[in-house]
Amino acid sequence: MATALITGSSRGIGAAIALRLAQDGYDIALNDISEAMFEDNDIMEKITACGVKCEKFIADVSKYDHCEEMVKAVKDTFGSLDVLVNNAGITRDGLMARMSEEIYDLVIAVNQKSVFNMTKLAGTIMMKQRSGRIINLSSVAGLYGNAGQLNYSASKAAIIGMTKTTAKELGSRGITCNAVAPGFIQTPMTDKLNEDQKKAILNMIAMKRYGQVEEIAGVVSFLASKDASYVTGQVIEISGGLSM
Ligand code: NAD
Repeated sequence: MATALITGSSRGIGAAIALRLAQDGYDIALNDISEAMFEDNDIMEKITACGVKCEKFIADVSKYDHCEEMVKAVKDTFGSLDVLVNNAGITRDGLMARMSEEIYDLVIAVNQKSVFNMTKLAGTIMMKQRSGRIINLSSVAGLYGNAGQLNYSASKAAIIGMTKTTAKELGSRGITCNAVAPGFIQTPMTDKLNEDQKKAILNMIAMKRYGQVEEIAGVVSFLASKDASYVTGQVIEISGGLSM
């Protein structure tokens, strides 16, 4: 049985990806920053109901030593690591003029450095296996920028460069690396926007609605599947036509 590790997967897009990959037949390694994130939700039950194995691993993916311990534990528990989804991410929005250095550094560490940590560590296992799929969560903010999100858009643009470089470095070992760039998806992250912000965003979307987490999970499932075996270094925008 193949194994998928999804970071930041107790809720939101990460949980939807984990459930979809479980439905595809993968054993699932869930991750989040604290045990508390798994309280009051039934993601583990939903995944085990698919007939696959599921374990949770508590780690702060911005910290290399946490990632090292987690990747080793996943390999020891499941025997292989076939799909890595770098999903964990945070926003700490504010105009650049008022953004503190601490807040800038925090978002870069959680969203961007985590991708280095996890890709380096999981990539080592995948190189030995001579197969693997790495899927990174970028954002339309990384493609086009977004006022009030200098830190977030920097991290999400960096992920695009990291995706292409990983694809070039690991391609000869049978490993693909792609990114998805969601637009506005209904999750706890976007629930924080006020009504005026939500209205302005809907006006820009051709499909005149927010995306659902399952609509991101479906594309990730495709990128992890056999059908995507010759797709690498690509960024797929999933935004309901936000950018046209
Ligand atoms: P979310 O806040 O609902 O979920 C993010 C998860 O990551 C949470 O469970 C959180 O606890 C976890 N996390 C945060 N810091 C962590 C850390 N240091 N270590 C481990 N886990 C950590 O957000 P979401 O909307 O589901 O977003 C998931 C991903 O998709 C993020 O990378 C986000 O930037 C990206 N994205 C989301 C949207 C959107 O509209 N929701 C749009 C574009 C991109």
